[in-house]
Amino acid sequence: MPDAIVVGAGPNGLAAAIELARAGMSVRVLEAADTVGGGARSAELTLPGFVHDVCSAIHPLGVASPLFRTLPLAEHGLEWIEPPAPLAHPFDDGTAAVLERSLDASVRGVGEDESRWRRLFAPLTRGAEPLLEDVLAPLHVPAHPVQLTRFGIPAALPATALARLAFRGEKARGLFAGLAAHSMLPLGRPPSAAFGLMLGLLAHSVGWPFPRGGSQMLSDALASYLRTLGGEIETGRRVESLAELGGTRPVLLDVTPRGLLGLAGDRLPTRYRRGLERYRYGPGVFKLDWALDGPIPWRAEACARAATVHLGATLEEIEASEATPGRGEIAERPFVLLAQQSLFDPTRAPEGRQTAWAYCHVPNGSTVDMTGRIEAQVERFAPGFRERILARSALGPAEIERYNENYVGGDINGGAATLTQLFTRPVARVSPYTTPLPGVFLCSSSTPPGGGVHGMCGSHAARAALRCANSRATRT
Ligand SMILES: Cc1cc2nc3c(=O)[nH]c(=O)nc-3n(C[C@H](O)[C@H](O)[C@H](O)COP(=O)(O)OP(=O)(O)OC[C@H]3O[C@@H](n4cnc5c(N)ncnc54)[C@H](O)[C@@H]3O)c2cc1C
Repeated sequence: MPDAIVVGAGPNGLAAAIELARAGMSVRVLEAADTVGGGARSAELTLPGFVHDVCSAIHPLGVASPLFRTLPLAEHGLEWIEPPAPLAHPFDDGTAAVLERSLDASVRGVGEDESRWRRLFAPLTRGAEPLLEDVLAPLHVPAHPVQLTRFGIPAALPATALARLAFRGEKARGLFAGLAAHSMLPLGRPPSAAFGLMLGLLAHSVGWPFPRGGSQMLSDALASYLRTLGGEIETGRRVESLAELGGTRPVLLDVTPRGLLGLAGDRLPTRYRRGLERYRYGPGVFKLDWALDGPIPWRAEACARAATVHLGATLEEIEASEATPGRGEIAERPFVLLAQQSLFDPTRAPEGRQTAWAYCHVPNGSTVDMTGRIEAQVERFAPGFRERILARSALGPAEIERYNENYVGGDINGGAATLTQLFTRPVARVSPYTTPLPGVFLCSSSTPPGGGVHGMCGSHAARAALRCANSRATRT
């Protein structure tokens, strides 16, 4: 038997396994799906030769991750592609705001707000690396308190308040609202501004790159590196109960609270079980992937400089869209997050053809088909888009959950990122990675720092497991 078992080969499961293996443990990863990667996998979802990212596509958190940065992933096939600009945000007048990689260029197309943008992000960007280490971690005494306070004060505001305080014009406000909408929170609620600040900071410090060949390449690189450390991975192996794992400890679970409830059965003490049952999942997503016979015909040419394009124009429109899932409603004009990786990565599509990836937020478990509404948003900023579609794949919340059981009701972040759940997910404990079951740990995005492909939930969970193992060894 191995020294440790990890259930789930998502980015956090693989990160946890790597941390344990680097500490000298023999590790086995058990993954339900036939391929590794969880939310970082790619497949031919539409036509042969078109490679689509089934879940995650753009990886600012991956390239910034304090763990991934230390791993020799380039030696295992990972190559980051950096588009000329991280993000474009078109408007109805045919122009676009473009978020630039360098803070000196800051953002283009927002007029006098350009210097205000620079003033907001300059103090954060100057100390980006230590700040990211403090932010991508559970609650702790910060190693860099001044930098964290600079971030924390504006981050605690609702995005709408910060956008209106920091900028005068509707273009910069709309751009910031689009960043903050990644929180999947209503933008009038804190800490939605934190997501806007974080994504802007990442754009100006590390960029918003993506892996050549698809997100699968990141997962394959993590898996390949783990194997060089002696780690084993068994795919096609769904774990139904902790009892299957015998006495091996530690066990690290890349599952959400619902998964833990299923695996542990009646072994969990009532108080902790009730805490897990109260855990709140966030809105779901409705996702489309397209095979296209050419590039998206953006009215604003600047949109072709960025791999990510946000469709929703103004702060008011994005705010209205992001408020609907919480009310159980559908936005007629949904805020759409779109990626066009093949413009910068020819491996994604046959010559002369393109791919595109997009999703919008919907109520958790929604069964409404959003295809027409999403495509209408693209057409609004790129007339003629529909004629370029050769084939499409549509995944609603139910299909996304069927694809990966961690996406409960289509929630891609392993639980709502509300003020309380952001830091104390899944329940308030000194170490949120521990459970009342000795040697059993949670390592998924349902633990701090939450959703995204950064592996830091797995890294912190593995360190918690190693601390427990060491203190047990010292006692005996
Ligand atoms: C449509 C979509 C778009 C996204 N876009 C981005 C993006 O652009 N950038 C970004 O950073 N993030 C993005 N995300 C979020 C990101 O994918 C997740 O936050 C991340 O994958 C979470 O990693 P994880 O390891 O915690 O869980 P997951 O990646 O969900 O992996 C969990 C793994 O555990 C396995 N598993 C679960 N239960 C069991 C069991 N009982 N037995 C065995 N195996 C089990 C699952 O099969 C799965 O492989 C997106 C997600 C989706 C769905």
